[in-house]
Amino acid sequence: MAIASINPVDGSVIAQFDAHDDNEIEERIAAAAAAYRSLRDTAFATRAGWMRSAADLLDADVDRVAELITAEMGKPLAQARAEVHKSATAMRFYADHAEEFLSGAELDDPSVVGASAARTVYQPIGVVLAVMPWNYPIWQVIRFAAPALMAGNTGLLKHASNVPQAALYLDTLFERSGFPHGSFRSLLIPAAKVEGVLRDRRVVAATLTGSEPAGRSVAAIAGSEVKHVVLELGGSDPFIVMPSADLDRAVATAVSARTSNNGQACINAKRFIVHRDIHDAFVEKFAAAMAALTVGDPMAEGTDVGPLATESGRDEVAGLVADALSSGATAVVGGAVPDGPGWFYPPTVVTGITDAMRLYREEAFGPVASVYRAEDAADALRIANDTTFGLSSAVWTTDDEEEAFFIRGLDAGAVFVNGMSISYPHLPFGGVKDSGVGRELSAEGIREFCNLKSIWKA
Ligand code: NAP
Repeated sequence: MAIASINPVDGSVIAQFDAHDDNEIEERIAAAAAAYRSLRDTAFATRAGWMRSAADLLDADVDRVAELITAEMGKPLAQARAEVHKSATAMRFYADHAEEFLSGAELDDPSVVGASAARTVYQPIGVVLAVMPWNYPIWQVIRFAAPALMAGNTGLLKHASNVPQAALYLDTLFERSGFPHGSFRSLLIPAAKVEGVLRDRRVVAATLTGSEPAGRSVAAIAGSEVKHVVLELGGSDPFIVMPSADLDRAVATAVSARTSNNGQACINAKRFIVHRDIHDAFVEKFAAAMAALTVGDPMAEGTDVGPLATESGRDEVAGLVADALSSGATAVVGGAVPDGPGWFYPPTVVTGITDAMRLYREEAFGPVASVYRAEDAADALRIANDTTFGLSSAVWTTDDEEEAFFIRGLDAGAVFVNGMSISYPHLPFGGVKDSGVGRELSAEGIREFCNLKSIWKA
């Protein structure tokens, strides 16, 4: 794929960039390794000062950065602005808490290990390669970069090929705020060049957020090099609605949960599993609310859903729905590619899905909701877990026993009760099954790329 910014509203090329050649790649790896030798020995307070300055720069640049996000991947401008501010908040969160998260622990009774003192401490490990997706072009990167840099690691970013302007903005952000030269740089490279970078002995670990095939490939390379890897992959999150729930709130939240980010978030709710007693009422209200959304230019105020980010992504979503409809499913609303330029796909609600259809098993990365009828709580849980994914989940109920049943039973990295899945700097984020390994955000996220060192003293 060419490294190019392409406007998904009309397919026009905004800008194209030459990929870095081998000399440039070598220079950036060497700079990251040199920066690590200096960054690891700086005080937390110094790093925190630089991180807070970077957050201030990002906040100050919000108009420019939000516009470039929207221009190259199509999310509504207000959501792009929210992404920028959320990223700055996460940077301040790690500036405030990194030292505490990495301080380790004292053994209360060191005599049990024959020592006068025994403790642990978390230390940085070196240069980490981050392979990142286009759907949150700033947030996905910051939630790796902020903890990594605060721990004293350095980072190399291989961003998605369709968001080079975001990659170039991030390329200079941390040096502008005071971090040593080379601490966090972008590599403008195609996916095929990732292997060489990851096999470089100066690169000690990798994190990848993206699709399952990309994750498997990077994990295989990292495994063969005995390098640590964190994977945040796809999801097909369930959103379960039981009869005791506030139906109108559940419906309103379901619409946001399915369509935020134009339906292209890993933790968008994708499968709506509704108890049979309220199924028909839910479908009617949900379909009406989805049909009422404004689809259009993401730069325009009032747009709820913009185009999908890439033509191939739009075709993939359209193909999943077409496959279901041709096998007997029903599009209650939406379900067809509109005429006209750009990579638009309408908010869509599909019912009558069977396990023979691709839509049952595959992730719909666009504003397409699959609705399933459940006989009871056990049936709802069965459907929810009948997937290879396990990222997040939501359950709507006011029954305490039901709530406990779903929290215990859902195979997912998170359960949101009477709400929708959202990432917060304070909560660990990650999945089980094919949704990935490891955690981002919170104390767990910063510790992923650290050496947990045990210290024993006679
Ligand atoms: P993608 O095709 O896997 O791309 C993600 C990144 O991986 C890009 O930088 C891409 O580079 C690179 N890449 C692709 N194939 C690779 C390979 N074989 N080796 C090394 N790098 C490779 O994913 P996407 O379609 O852009 O993103 C959508 C997917 O990401 C969805 O499945 C979504 O659920 C998932 N996602 C997960 C999370 C999470 O936190 N769990 C968050 C956001 C998105 P190029 O662009 O150059 O191909």
